[in-house]
Formats: sequence, C-alpha cells, structure tokens
Amino acid sequence: MSGQTPPTHTLLTHEALIMSSLEELPTVVFPALFKEAFAGRQTNLLKAMVAAWPFPCLHVGSLMKKPNLETLQALLDGIDMRLTREFHPRRAKLQVLDMRNMYHAFWNIRADANDSDYKSKTLDEKQLVKVLPRYARRQRLKVIVNLSISSHFNKSKAYFLNWAKQRIGSLYFCCIKMKIWDPPDQVIRDIFNVFDPEHITELELNTDWTLLQLAHFAPYFGHMKNLQKVFLAPLHKNTSPIINITSATEAKCVHKIISQFSQFNCLQHIFMKHVHFLRDYMNQVLGCLMTPLETLSITQCLISQRDFDLFSCSQNLFKLKHLEIRGMILYALDLMPLRGLLQKVADTLEILDFQWCRMKDSQINALLPALSQCTQLNQINFYNNDFSMCTLKALFQHTANWSKMNVEQYPAPLQCYNELGHVSVERFVQLCQELMYTLRAIRQPKSISFATDNCQKCGKPCVYDQGPIFCSCFQ
Ligand SMILES: [Zn+2]
Repeated sequence: MSGQTPPTHTLLTHEALIMSSLEELPTVVFPALFKEAFAGRQTNLLKAMVAAWPFPCLHVGSLMKKPNLETLQALLDGIDMRLTREFHPRRAKLQVLDMRNMYHAFWNIRADANDSDYKSKTLDEKQLVKVLPRYARRQRLKVIVNLSISSHFNKSKAYFLNWAKQRIGSLYFCCIKMKIWDPPDQVIRDIFNVFDPEHITELELNTDWTLLQLAHFAPYFGHMKNLQKVFLAPLHKNTSPIINITSATEAKCVHKIISQFSQFNCLQHIFMKHVHFLRDYMNQVLGCLMTPLETLSITQCLISQRDFDLFSCSQNLFKLKHLEIRGMILYALDLMPLRGLLQKVADTLEILDFQWCRMKDSQINALLPALSQCTQLNQINFYNNDFSMCTLKALFQHTANWSKMNVEQYPAPLQCYNELGHVSVERFVQLCQELMYTLRAIRQPKSISFATDNCQKCGKPCVYDQGPIFCSCFQ
C-alpha cells in the first residue's frame, strides 16, 4: 500500500461502509479522513464524523477558507445530532468546535499507510489538540469563532448566526476576534446576545458611528474584560448633521466611552486611526488603563499639545515596545514631552514609527539624546519628515548603539528638492549615497532606505536602498 494512493482516499469512495464503521476506525485516521471528506464535500460523512469526533477539539476553521454553505450545514448538523442525542457514539469526545482559521498543523498530520501504525496509535491525542482547562470539561459544547460583522452577511455567515441564535441555551458561543463594520444596531444586539463580550481578545471597530451611537456601544465595549488589542477607526467627532447634540451631551458621551478603558484587565495594544474625539482626553484614556501598554499607535488623529505634554508622565506608556505616531502634523508642537517618553522607554522600545509627521530639523534634534539611548530598536520609520542633510548626519551619529536595528527608513534630505519642490534626481542619488557612506562609517546597517515625498505628478516617491528607484516620471 505504501507509496500508492493514501488509504483514506480509497475509503472515501465507500462512504456508506465508513459511516457504518466509524465506531471501529482508529482515531488516528480521523483527521485525514475528515479533511478529504471536507474537500470532497461529502456532507453525510462529514455530519457523521462531527457527531463521532473522537478528540476534544475539532479545528475546522482552517478547512473553511472558502465559505461553502453545504459543508457548513453538514458540520452544524453533526453538532445538532449530538445535541439531540440522535446518535451517541461511544468515543465521541468533542467539547470544542473551533471555526477560526488557525491550527493548520493539525490537518497536516496524515495517517501513515502502514497498518501497524494504525494499531499502535502513535499519535498521542494530547499532541493533536490543545488540552482544555479543567473547568471547560463537562460543560456545554463550545463553538469558537472570529467574526467580522457588517450590514451584509454572506449566506454561510447568515446561516451560522441564525443557527447560533437558536441554540443559545444549549451551546456555548465564544468570539475571540471581532471586527465591526457599520452594522445596524439590531445586529449588534443580536450578536452580543449570542456571544459574551467577555471572550473577545481583539476588537476592530471600523465604524462611522456618531458619538451617541458609540456611547450606546460603550457598555458592550466595557464588558470585553479580556481585551488585549483594540483598533479604533474611523470614529468621527462630528455627530450626524440631523442629530445635533449639545457639547454637554458630547462630553458625556466621550466620558462614557473613555471610562470603559478602566475595565480591561489585560489590554496591551491600542491602535487608533482618525479618532478625533479624544483630542484633549488622551491623558484620561491612558490614566484609566489597568495595565501598561506594549503598543500605542496613533494615526491621523487630532492631538493637542496638552495630550502630548502628558506622554512623558503616563506610567502606562513606560513599557512600550511599539510606538507609532503617523500622519500627525507635529511641526507646530513642542516635542520635548516625547523626548521624555523616549527616555522612559529606552530599554523596551523596539519599533518607532514617525511617518508623515512633517517634523522639522529642530524637532528631531531635540529627540536625538533620547533616541541614542533606545538600544533595543529594530525598526524605525522617519519617511515624510523634513530633515536636512546635516540633521540626518547628526541623527546617524546618535545611532551607534542601535546594534539590533533591522529596518531603517529615512526621508530623503531637503536638499534633494528644487525651489518648486520637485526632486532633482542627480542630487537625490548623490546625497543618498553620501548618507549611506556616513552611516556605514558608524555601523553596518542591514536594511536602510531613503524616500522622497510622493511625486506631485505620478504620486510615487523616489526610493534609494540598494540603489535608486525613481518615481514613474524618471523611468
Ligand atoms: Zn513622478
């Protein structure tokens, strides 16, 4: 048999025979057999195999990359068979149906063609599945998903959610990662009726909600006690033009949202994009946090000097590994508080991103003493700032301690542009070469590049890394 067709393939052609002998099949063949049944959309067999699944977990998500209503129905029918006790196989151990797209390795374990391997059960079940915490045993079967919620669901998702809604009392539904894209309020209510927000570890909120709508969502948000990562974008400060709320109501809404940040016991990563309503409230958000952050990413948000001033004394920022302040116009701000913060995180900071900040020479110069102490840095991005040749060279002189640096991205120096703001390609090449030479005299960079601003004609930058790559206009 070995070297020929895998045994399961032959078995699959005898669906009826397999279904009648599922009880006797060695558990070790189940994964490979299930995978083939899934690929062949053999719905009757799938249903029977789910009902008879001999392991505690069924990590079916990685097989479901392309949604298929028939196979989904077969899976859920298999679960229903267990619920209704239509069929109660001796070895059925299923406690968790995991529909997340992960655990790919599980399905790569193939049954060996050698018969003796079937009998000896060389695969330890504990290696196949993650051992469940003790409390999870003897409980309702758990269905784990990652969900993306919008105003429109495809057929499979609509079917699943409807199925779930009707089984709230008999199964236990957990959503681990949730993305929300402007669903109607009723959908939000339905979803949280099925999925306890407490299990969500990652939330992505891409909504156009007004502050009032956000405030309505706040209690669900606050219940996400295990949230580790939150991505908020784009949340507009302006309320709908039809509903004109007063500034007192607005402040109330903002406080209701902010106060939820004190509920998270393990929040480590905050990403915000276009979040304008937190201007002047940043310190309250940071002050509310129960745990120090690893990531703070603020992109194209409105931020005030007052917000900035508090950065250097926000304890919850002092263990940052990843600081990203992107697309924020900083040239008018005093960056000394940022220098204070960089000094505080010098031993932990690994990634620093200031792209599109339009910082001036004087501003980056103010940060240099702190930057030179950040010895753990392995990635920096200063693209789209306004630094002169002289300042870039001074910056390099402060990077001798960056021994862990992997990827460094700098703006092409201001001297590359003519008086109309157009790139002079000769100067661009010559000055970037000179900067490479300067840096190589200080340390050996691994991956370094310089980029101009996007070209006014073609919209692309000129980039210099191994050599020059010009924008479309010069090719
Ligand atoms: Zn161009």
